[in-house]
Amino acid sequence: MAPFFERFKFYSTLPNLGNIMVYCSKCAEKLPENAYFCLKCGTRTRNGVTAGISPPWNWEKQLEQTLSTVVKEMEKAVESVRKSINKSNQKISVSCSSCGEKNLGSAKYCYKCGSELK
Ligand SMILES: [Zn+2]
Ligand SMILES: [Zn+2]
Repeated sequence: MAPFFERFKFYSTLPNLGNIMVYCSKCAEKLPENAYFCLKCGTRTRNGVTAGISPPWNWEKQLEQTLSTVVKEMEKAVESVRKSINKSNQKISVSCSSCGEKNLGSAKYCYKCGSELK
């Protein structure tokens, strides 16, 4: 009778429902479904918007822009090294200094609060 119920029944039988990944709307990075921010570019996910979590940086973003040239130079220097250790690096977790949430070692931004990981 109700097509909505039929659909719900179908979805509830899917085995991988808990493992659904979301993708960053900006850089298409694969993110955990409970992520509020993109691990790579810090863009807020739909989850973050829905949860009403606001990005923590305003002044910090300005500082980031100022430092970006320096950072780019540094990143060039370590890029080759980073590439070679990238595989093992994926498994090392980094704790967020703001909220303590553990992120992937390759993450630049905390997936929970959006703070930049150092
Ligand atoms: Zn992104
Ligand atoms: Zn955090």
